[in-house]
Amino acid sequence: MTVKETKYIFITGGVVSSLGKGIAAASIGKLLEKQGLSVTIQKFDPYLNLDPGTMSPYQHGEVFVTEDGCETDLDLGHYERFVDRALKRVNNVTSGMIFWTVLQKERKGDYLGHTVQIVPHVTNEIKERITAVLAEQHFDVVITEIGGTIGDIESAPFLEAIRQFHSKHKGDCLQIHLTLVPYLKTNGEFKTKPTQHSVKELRGIGIHPDIILCRSVKPVNDELKEKIALFCDVEKESVVSAVDVHNIYEVPVKFKEERVDKVIMQKLNLEAKEVDLKEWINFVEVLEDPSLPLVTVAIVGKYTNLADAYISVVEALKHAVVENGCRLNVRWVNSERIEKYGADKYLEGVDGIVVPGGFGNRGIEGKISSAQYAREKDIPYLGLCLGMHMTVIEIARNVLGLKGANSTEFDLETAYPVIDFLPEQRDMKKKGGTMRLGNYPCKIVGNTKLFDAYNFREVQERHRHRYEFNNDYRVPFEKAGVVFSGTSPDDRLVEVIEFTKQKWHVACQFHPEFKSRPNKSAPLFKGFIKAVKNR
Ligand code: GLN
Repeated sequence: MTVKETKYIFITGGVVSSLGKGIAAASIGKLLEKQGLSVTIQKFDPYLNLDPGTMSPYQHGEVFVTEDGCETDLDLGHYERFVDRALKRVNNVTSGMIFWTVLQKERKGDYLGHTVQIVPHVTNEIKERITAVLAEQHFDVVITEIGGTIGDIESAPFLEAIRQFHSKHKGDCLQIHLTLVPYLKTNGEFKTKPTQHSVKELRGIGIHPDIILCRSVKPVNDELKEKIALFCDVEKESVVSAVDVHNIYEVPVKFKEERVDKVIMQKLNLEAKEVDLKEWINFVEVLEDPSLPLVTVAIVGKYTNLADAYISVVEALKHAVVENGCRLNVRWVNSERIEKYGADKYLEGVDGIVVPGGFGNRGIEGKISSAQYAREKDIPYLGLCLGMHMTVIEIARNVLGLKGANSTEFDLETAYPVIDFLPEQRDMKKKGGTMRLGNYPCKIVGNTKLFDAYNFREVQERHRHRYEFNNDYRVPFEKAGVVFSGTSPDDRLVEVIEFTKQKWHVACQFHPEFKSRPNKSAPLFKGFIKAVKNR
């Protein structure tokens, strides 16, 4: 089915943050794709940073990277994984970007002497971003998630822009509001008042919700739906129970049971059918199957109190265990603890070790020890970006005997800069454009673990880093048993190394986790978990 006039769905959140708007948007996207529509999803983040690239993972979780090299909100990762479509730079918009554009236009004199104001200049800019996702390609549906919670000062211009957009595109827009319906254990009651208030606030802005998603610990029953419908002036069928689930991949299944896709299709005057989620449900069932063998994978990082910081890595591991017929137990290991108390204490008994990406020198010695532990005990190791730097440094120090070998990211004076800027990057540094971001080709050498994993001679993977393997050290590394199984097509950049003496010790300069999907696991993760399971 192709829809002539694109339909727009806006998703807002009420009462509290972290209700799962991103997963809700992704799940709705999934169901509408299954209804036969082409869907794109975008995120509007009301903060003033230009992008989350400079924000601490403590504040913002993982920075997700698109193919075209944009550092974005982690919700884009959910959208890609659920809808299975690569998104672009235009799919993430921040207030910072909007204001930056408006101010640049002002300086250029584009506003022809007018007073520049939130309405209409900022709101016009926002409205343009809603349709910008259609510039290169038609989509039947554009889903726009607005970050933050109704009532935040920051989101006001976005909501005003949406209100204006609605009145211009009457009949083609749908407003979905995700709210919290708290359940009071002591008297066994649901409370709808916070939802009523949140909807009241939304209506005060001039936006009327068409569908209300009620996040709650237990399913919201019919009686309650009726009450919410009455108070919030929506139909009862448009009040949907968004019950807590054990795993995020269940959400589309639950939404389907609640007929969310059908209600949306009907409201958009589109013909609905019964969607088939068989493969997806199968994925969810295998992921939760207690009869499968359990594998324990350590993720050694510095943000271990916060799974959001490594969310794509964890999701990629989940995709990989399902395809290998096993079950995942993640052991979070704080690399600073390893520095203090040794790797044995934290890594004993694990079946595999992942050292994910990262920046800055806090905790890196602990990560280097983890790579050493993996190599010496022959435990499957997967190094991702910084995790590749860690194993390179470890091999340099402990196999090649290059004492004090390091990356110049951490030690500018090191005698053995095995990870370094490339000579041409040094000049670029002055211009500030040193980060390698987004898709780059990787040429694969035959007869390697890398080739086994991908079965292709060339692949594209996403990058986000400044430092590279220092080519001065290629020969000694090769002599020590390292194979440079992936390089840039011109051979200048090392993209993947593997240590041949180990059963599975592979590290890549890129981030394969960003491309992993349910039922389409990232090849390196799949290969890694296969080795973990076989161990
Ligand atoms: N800090 C390293 C670099 O900039 C690695 C980055 C990463 O792991 N994403 O090269």
